[in-house]
Amino acid sequence: MSTKVLTFHFTAYNEDGSINDTSLGQEPVNILTGFGHVLPILEDTLKNMDIGSKKTVVVTPELGFGYVDYEKMQEFSKKVFSNDNLEVGMVVNLVSPEGDRVFGIIHDIKPESVLIDFNHPLAGKTLKFDLNLLNVRDASQEEIEHGHVHNDGSNNH
Ligand SMILES: [Zn+2]
Repeated sequence: MSTKVLTFHFTAYNEDGSINDTSLGQEPVNILTGFGHVLPILEDTLKNMDIGSKKTVVVTPELGFGYVDYEKMQEFSKKVFSNDNLEVGMVVNLVSPEGDRVFGIIHDIKPESVLIDFNHPLAGKTLKFDLNLLNVRDASQEEIEHGHVHNDGSNNH
């Protein structure tokens, strides 16, 4: 199948029904197919929708962000952190032994150390997505080469 540009609005709901994220009230989302811009389950659903139609997809951990992997939790000495006001749930920014900047979430705070969770923030969660497909068109050669969508008049990069 040739590369397409899919334009859509979405709303993602948490398990308790609260809104996790939405494009409503903003510009719709534009993705190129085949580039992994969104979860495969969402791309596959969008590709099989008619323009103008709506669909709800339930994204389980298997289809979405995976399960919580306890191997991805790591303990750090409190001395590593310059911030004295550490709290569970806080996002921290650390430098890996390879020198990469990595983000983690504080999972637990002990007297001398802090347990940091490096799982995807949505790991283990089931989300419900409302999708509304607005447009489908063929991608241009330039868009395919760049790996992103060019909108009218916004091709400044
Ligand atoms: Zn470009």
